[in-house]
Amino acid sequence: MLLDTFGRQAVDLRVSLTDRCNLRCTYCMPEEGLQWLAKPSLLTDEEIVRLVGIAVRDLGVREVRFTGGEPLLRPGLVGIVAACAELGPRPELSLTTNGIGLARTAAALKQAGLDRVNVSLDTLDEDTFHTLTRRRRHHDVLDGLAAAEAAGLSPVKLNAVLMRGVNDHEAADLLGWCIEHGYELRFIEQMPLDAQHGWDRSQMVTAEEILVLLRARYDLTPEPSAARGAAPAERWLVDGGPARVGVIASVTRPFCRACDRTRLTADGQVRNCLFATDETDLREALRSGAGDEEIGELWRKAMWGKKAGAGIDAPSFHQPDRPMSAIGG
Ligand code: SAM
Ligand code: SF4
Repeated sequence: MLLDTFGRQAVDLRVSLTDRCNLRCTYCMPEEGLQWLAKPSLLTDEEIVRLVGIAVRDLGVREVRFTGGEPLLRPGLVGIVAACAELGPRPELSLTTNGIGLARTAAALKQAGLDRVNVSLDTLDEDTFHTLTRRRRHHDVLDGLAAAEAAGLSPVKLNAVLMRGVNDHEAADLLGWCIEHGYELRFIEQMPLDAQHGWDRSQMVTAEEILVLLRARYDLTPEPSAARGAAPAERWLVDGGPARVGVIASVTRPFCRACDRTRLTADGQVRNCLFATDETDLREALRSGAGDEEIGELWRKAMWGKKAGAGIDAPSFHQPDRPMSAIGG
């Protein structure tokens, strides 16, 4: 099992399939100039499946989420999903994506064994989408969402980041639109993980502010805390339910005490936290012929050293060198 000294067990593995992306969200990447991981350093499809296999068979991982960068840019994605769906015990398989290209691949991904998707969409307005992502691909995301729903990758969840003065006025509209379409919306507080280190705590739209914006239109009642488990989102019933909305308050109300995550980067590094400043190199071990047991032991050691919390709001907080797009969000 992947345990740490605070008694937590990691059962949820986030696998980054690439650090590249077809959008340039302002809270994630600079417009240009970001250094990509070198091709030879990237794990092959087979290497990824082998590591996921070790995690599932030997280390107690029960859920695997593919992310990035943009995971739909990985040519072997459908094959990776299919191979992971063959593993025993069969893990839950999901994908976090910006939705571009999902219209083409949703059915094949479902067929391969994908269970669910989270699609990121911050705005209902095409021009605001361009301001936020520096690309004109709003309609591709909407098509992708519809295809995911049609393919049965449900419940389709939507992730949204609010940026002050850009899309924060849309909070309640986004919720209304998601309720209408049967998508479950989760707002994520903006975190200091952008490649350009431009995060400014004073500019961040906090969970409290998000709730005020939503309550201007909807009645929100907290879901019983027992339902939350290790999920990072605190959830509210909207107008008595069954519709719900979540808020992931990583900065103002961190959920580190219940964290059950372990992370594998596209270049084969294990990270025990999004905000970890050190990593454990499994790629090198793989490529120098280490057996499953040895790799499992390295992974266990990496998790054992997990800190109590990320402490983003603490004065001593230090932003990791690797941006979110190269860790896997
Ligand atoms: N490209 C895919 C996508 O956008 O869904 C997957 C990777 S992306 C890094 C995963 C999630 O992280 C997205 O929902 C995105 O909005 C969120 N994200 C990116 N940078 C963030 C930041 N600085 N703070 C909070 N969330 C962020
Ligand atoms: Fe790409 Fe996702 Fe980062 Fe946006 S948040 S730039 S879609 S990796």
